Formats: sequence, structure tokens, C-alpha cells
Amino acid sequence: MNVLDISPVKVGGFNYALRYDTIGLARRGNVAELEHTSNEILLSEDYGPQPRLQSVIHEAMHAIIQLYYGGLSDPVLEEGIVTQLSQGWYQVMRDNPRLLQAFIELNEEQNETK
Ligand SMILES: [Zn+2]
Repeated sequence: MNVLDISPVKVGGFNYALRYDTIGLARRGNVAELEHTSNEILLSEDYGPQPRLQSVIHEAMHAIIQLYYGGLSDPVLEEGIVTQLSQGWYQVMRDNPRLLQAFIELNEEQNETK
């Protein structure tokens, strides 16, 4: 699947468009970035589908922290928390397809009743 097909990623009512910025990210030494001003998640084509998907989850967690906590005052601490939580969440989704399926079914049922 093309990770860009996920776009936009909605976090707390804000839509974040996914787009590639491979050269810019490489120049800045980053795998992905969350752009608050343009509401974008920048991804690199230098990485495969799994790292790209993990990057989307990682940047979405930064967006959650920004939205609900205004970001953390210590960017190194935030990076560490986001890295561990996003890796942990990716693993939980990978190892529990029935959990993910239950979420999808519940969400579809709720949308049908709206
Ligand atoms: Zn990060």
C-alpha cells in the first residue's frame, strides 16, 4: 500500500496531510517531521513501507502531545517518549489484529447509526 493513501491523518479535529519531502528531510537529518504551521507530516521515500507507517504513528503522537499538552518543554524527553510509545503502539497493532478489527467494526457500527 502507498502510505500517502492514509492522508489526511486526523488528530483532535486537525487534518494533517501526508507528503514526501525526501531531499529536505535528508538535508535536515530527519526520517520524518510534523509541520505544525502547514498541518503536514513529511515522509521520506528513502525508507520502506513499515518505517513510513511507523513514522506516521510517531508524528501523530507528536501532534497529540502538541494538541493536549502544548508540547513538552524538554524536546529530548518528548522525542524519547514519542519514540517508545509509537514503537509500542505499532507492536500492539501488529500483534493484535483482532483488536484492530474490533475497533474498525465498532467505528463502522457507530458511523451507521449517525
Ligand atoms: Zn519525533
